[in-house]
Amino acid sequence: MQTIINMECTECKRRNYTTTKNKSKHSERRNAQKYCKHCRRHTSHKEVKA
Ligand SMILES: [Zn+2]
Repeated sequence: MQTIINMECTECKRRNYTTTKNKSKHSERRNAQKYCKHCRRHTSHKEVKA
């Protein structure tokens, strides 16, 4: 069972990335440093449900 996950910039709250993950294997929520084109720099992104 794959779950669609959005990666949301914690600074501007925009959703920049979409990914999928297996919820049963990866239930923990993680933050990731990703490039935000709106902030124009790397920011912390959190996982949110699509
Ligand atoms: Zn941003």
